[in-house]
Amino acid sequence: MCAWGMAAIAPGATAASNCHGTVNRGSIEGSVQLPPEGANFTAYSPVAVAMRRNHVHSEVSAIILEAYAKLELAAPKAQYVYGETGNEYGGRFRPHRTHQNGLSVDFFVPVHGRDGLPARLPTPATQHFGYDIEFDRTARYGEYSIDFTAMAEHLYQLDQAARARGRGIAQVIFDTAYLPRLFATPRGAALKKLNFMKGKPWVRHDEHYHVDFAVPCLK
Ligand SMILES: [Zn+2]
Repeated sequence: MCAWGMAAIAPGATAASNCHGTVNRGSIEGSVQLPPEGANFTAYSPVAVAMRRNHVHSEVSAIILEAYAKLELAAPKAQYVYGETGNEYGGRFRPHRTHQNGLSVDFFVPVHGRDGLPARLPTPATQHFGYDIEFDRTARYGEYSIDFTAMAEHLYQLDQAARARGRGIAQVIFDTAYLPRLFATPRGAALKKLNFMKGKPWVRHDEHYHVDFAVPCLK
């Protein structure tokens, strides 16, 4: 940090984002757009990417990409899909109640297909980009079933990547009925330390998990 309280920017490096307010009421300057795909992940929709609905704080982007890189070894077959994040400048992001300052990210659940192998959950525009999908009590939707081990590994790697940058995870929202299955995976014990929302959120979080990252914002 220089005397003016601004992070020094190395030549060629991306400038850091500045978030304001809270996830419920906020904005962001200098946000970055997540890549549409990588070795083991894709965005939920090319249409939504074209609408630039996948902007985040630069620190959140770094955490997400580091976690995906680690997952290439930790969960080599899993196919991850990220969902809505936020607008370029933050602010109201319908239909979400949060996602306003670059620190909220939705992730679609990794799944197994009919053959029991890792698959990509389809998230077509006709189903509100996947948000209309409903998994049943046994965590199944058609031929797909939630891969709790791959999901737990993802949350674990996000937490590790956030900590490595001096950040953290403020809150995770996921259907509380599924939490015992998440905690029963190899990473379950570590995940119990995260702050999972206990009450009922305003929409069921069965096909996706919502993560708010802990990054300091300006007023
Ligand atoms: Zn969300």
